[in-house]
Amino acid sequence: MIIVSACLLGLNAKYDGTSNAHALIQKYSSSGKYIPVCPEQLGGLPTPRVPVEIIDGMGQDVLEGQCAVQGEQGDVVTPQFIRGAKEIVKIVEMFGVSAAILKERSPSCGANYIYDGSFSHRMMPGQGVTAAILKEHNIPIYSEEELTEEQLKELVGDDG
Ligand code: SF4
Repeated sequence: MIIVSACLLGLNAKYDGTSNAHALIQKYSSSGKYIPVCPEQLGGLPTPRVPVEIIDGMGQDVLEGQCAVQGEQGDVVTPQFIRGAKEIVKIVEMFGVSAAILKERSPSCGANYIYDGSFSHRMMPGQGVTAAILKEHNIPIYSEEELTEEQLKELVGDDG
């Protein structure tokens, strides 16, 4: 089984109540291999919700208690982000998840890049909180930006 950021599948889980529907990933929705997850919702945050960034660090630093996740006006959501990441680990263990397809640049799901905490749309290399906890558990992570159809077919076991 593969966990997939819910917003990539067209679910309106994003902070502004919309999705990041991704046609290639949606194409294999009926493979039966996807588990759609939104770690921010699983952590107890509402949708829509305040947009947030990781301040002065990356996902791993948040998990280690070294920095916070917060909105531009200072709303702190670190506990919800950590709770959501831990719920994802439960899903990984429950369903024998072997890979994750995650939305790039999200403070939860970012696989290779996140915003730098300045709320000025500047990116930096790093992972979101859920991506970091999945890495700790040795789950291979693909972002929607790097995933090829060949890789996706292999992940879902489609020989066609
Ligand atoms: Fe999508 Fe992840 Fe953000 Fe949820 S937390 S909306 S799944 S990018």
